[in-house]
Amino acid sequence: MIADEPTSALDVTVQRRILDHLEARIAESGTAVLLITHDLGVAADRADRIVVMSQGEVVESGPTREILTNPQHAYTRALLAAAPSLSAAPRRTDELTAAVTVDPVLRVSGVSKTFRIDRRIAVEAVENVSFAVPRGRTLSLVGESGSGKSTLARIAIRLETPSRGSVEFDGEDITTLRGGALRALRRRVQIVYQNPYASLDPKLAVADIVAEPLGAFGIGNRAERSERVAELLEQVALPRTYLERKPAELSGGQRQRVAIARALALHPELLVLDEPVSALDVSVQAQILDLLALLQRELGLSYLFISHDLAVVRQISDTVAVMRSGRIVEFGTTAEIFDTPRRDYTRELLDAIPGQSIARPPSAQLEEALHA
Ligand code: ADP
Ligand code: MG
Repeated sequence: MIADEPTSALDVTVQRRILDHLEARIAESGTAVLLITHDLGVAADRADRIVVMSQGEVVESGPTREILTNPQHAYTRALLAAAPSLSAAPRRTDELTAAVTVDPVLRVSGVSKTFRIDRRIAVEAVENVSFAVPRGRTLSLVGESGSGKSTLARIAIRLETPSRGSVEFDGEDITTLRGGALRALRRRVQIVYQNPYASLDPKLAVADIVAEPLGAFGIGNRAERSERVAELLEQVALPRTYLERKPAELSGGQRQRVAIARALALHPELLVLDEPVSALDVSVQAQILDLLALLQRELGLSYLFISHDLAVVRQISDTVAVMRSGRIVEFGTTAEIFDTPRRDYTRELLDAIPGQSIARPPSAQLEEALHA
């Protein structure tokens, strides 16, 4: 059986169930499996032997344990370093003090959202949720698909209104904003979506995509706008030669850089990032997460970061809210959630992260691989 990225689009708990099922059927029938994956964590858990490919060539192969504990090739070491599920520690260790939540950029209080399908069926997508995003920091919402994350994201930036509760941006209730005040808010908060294929107009060149918000808000003349576009491209580390390309001529990571550049065009204070790296493979994920961390430091941005992937969340968050069925079931600093989770559900999510059974290579080797 050849399984080509069979679970790459799924969240970790569903992924584990499917791979367990596959493994059980295979054990019964004695079928041989060729498993293709970009996630070294999955390979680490499931494979007897691993073959590492780069640019059309096999660079290394051998028994799983050998590859993971004693990688010979620089590319394998880089893959190991980038695998989020194998990361030893969060990158940001600074503890949050109570002070940063006193004057948050965004405060969501007692928010619920009920969708009516018809008069009889009601979906409780979000139920009585409260949280605050500290200025210049990252709060993550993590949970399985359908837990209400995207609904909250849309409510946070007023693409949707809550059925109950309030949302304050910079101390002002935004749930009732209209006209000019709502337009002003649109400049100060921006959203980046999971799938840059769907969110970028395929007919437009990169230059026009990034300039679009500037045009929409009548900012600058032609020359000033193209100067700003060049500056934005530099901020997301894309060469100027990409200005005339269409989205189809970019890699997934490059497309997400374009989406981030566009989101930054109006100098927003808050970015809502709804699964921004979920469609990317792990080494590209790490690059985009590094970029987001850099932009946050340089521009003082606040992030509401959404992901179904705890391994990703660990790398970028200051505080984490774990969601299940429309509610927040656990909240804490990144260290609290990952080192001392209090709820069974959080522990279940943590246990489902692939690749935890494998020893890490020595950290000096990791450092070297990261900078290779
Ligand atoms: P997540 O982003 O965590 O996957 P969503 O916020 O997209 O979750 O969805 C939460 C729940 O609300 C799901 O049951 C979904 O089907 C439902 N839902 C979301 N948007 C709508 C809508 N516009 N109409 C009806 N139901 C919706
Ligand atoms: Mg979603």
